[in-house]
Amino acid sequence: MNIKPRLLILALFVATTIVTVSAQHQHRGECGVTYEMEQQLPVYSKKDVQLFKEANPERFASINIPVMFHTVANSVGEGRVKRKDILKSLCRMNNDYAEHGVVYYLKDGGFNELDNSNIFSNVSMNGDLVQTFKDGAAVDIFITENADTGSSLGTTLGFYSPGGDYIIIRKKEMADSSGTMSHEVGHYFSLRHPHSGWDQPYDIETYGNSVPFNTVPGTGALIELMDGSNCEDSGDKICDTAPDYLLGFTTQSCFDNFGVFDPNGDALESDETLSMGYFNNCPKYVFSPQQIDRAKLNIASPGRDFLLNTHTPNETEITGDLAIISPGFQETVETYNGVEVSWEGVQDADLYLVEIVNFADPADFYEYTTPNEALFITDLEPNKVYFLNVKPYNDAYTCYPEVGLPFLTGDVETSLNDPSFVSDFVVYPNPSHTNQDIIVDMMSEWSGNATLSISDLAGKVIKHQAIQISNGTQQLVTNQSGDIQSGIYFLKLSTVQGNVTRKIVIQ
Ligand SMILES: [Zn+2]
Repeated sequence: MNIKPRLLILALFVATTIVTVSAQHQHRGECGVTYEMEQQLPVYSKKDVQLFKEANPERFASINIPVMFHTVANSVGEGRVKRKDILKSLCRMNNDYAEHGVVYYLKDGGFNELDNSNIFSNVSMNGDLVQTFKDGAAVDIFITENADTGSSLGTTLGFYSPGGDYIIIRKKEMADSSGTMSHEVGHYFSLRHPHSGWDQPYDIETYGNSVPFNTVPGTGALIELMDGSNCEDSGDKICDTAPDYLLGFTTQSCFDNFGVFDPNGDALESDETLSMGYFNNCPKYVFSPQQIDRAKLNIASPGRDFLLNTHTPNETEITGDLAIISPGFQETVETYNGVEVSWEGVQDADLYLVEIVNFADPADFYEYTTPNEALFITDLEPNKVYFLNVKPYNDAYTCYPEVGLPFLTGDVETSLNDPSFVSDFVVYPNPSHTNQDIIVDMMSEWSGNATLSISDLAGKVIKHQAIQISNGTQQLVTNQSGDIQSGIYFLKLSTVQGNVTRKIVIQ
């Protein structure tokens, strides 16, 4: 056992952790939606909500909302968010909105890969460019490296653009499954911050424990009172959310007793569990009933008709145990550029996300989405340790945890494996269809008995026929009569001189 590299890795890990913690203390995260931007959001009165509820009970009860994730990388395709992180964050958002009958689902697969350095690293300066990439029939969410808007308050975690009608979220929020996405989607559907009007926290040291003014210094917004008398005209303009003077930003904990008194002298009691607020580290964040009413009214308003869709998302909870069949735990797969990955699927899953990460370099990762229970992967490098994850999901259920194991690659390149007597071994059509004959054209410098077989990724022989190989060019045919299901298979010519194997796909 080589001790020194391990100690070095440990030391690097400790150093990285310390840097991260101190950076968080210096730059707290915030939302990039400013008071000016909030002024552009529609305001709905209690009466608006009541009238709408009576007129459109069906659109108010429960609603499915399509979401398109634009996964942005730099111009050479580096730095893109992992799909796994998006699926986890979508799970969290669906949980946050679940009790209100709102279901978010992946529209058309849900991922649009976009390689653009301007959007990736400097999105706030490129709003017009962002708009050109919108889906237009979904909630458009762009996941970028950073979402900075140049605010002095802290690092911007994400924002909703009322002008462009899209959401930006920085990549790290997805990796952390933070509440940022639920918060920004709240803005998308008209919700303001409970502390709206406060662009800095109330300054207790300067002004004392009793707020000495009726409007917020700087913005001139009306200060919301604890007695509820001005709740429709101040803060988030919603009356079942408590006054909030942005003091959540001054603490790292879920704590709201700051000993501050409103302009009437009533003790300030904010609601630290609101998703739209800035309090930290609470066990759960929620939307108030009146916030949800307003969000739903916005969802159902004519301006949001582009979200209407006849698609019925699959919300079915996925249960059962997913088991990886191939490769085995810590198996070395000799043919690094031909790795069979297969698993025993789980009931009710429409899709599988397959992720392969280089153990030594986590930025080096591969991801694939498939409805099948097997994949043949040709992208990997020789002599590496990889970690394989398989995560089943449906377009509106993404909460099943991924199942994974480590494996290694050898240094054998499959295409160099044909025995020397064979040349020009071509299989077509590939892909083929279930009832379409598969043809092999080949040139041989040997003659004799052989077999031609088709086996699945687990190695089980599905079809087998004895053939005769002659010297020279020839054509071999495997007759298909629809007896092989669609999937990925190996076609193998076996002789005493050696074997030739090709991956084939039957659709
Ligand atoms: Zn916000």
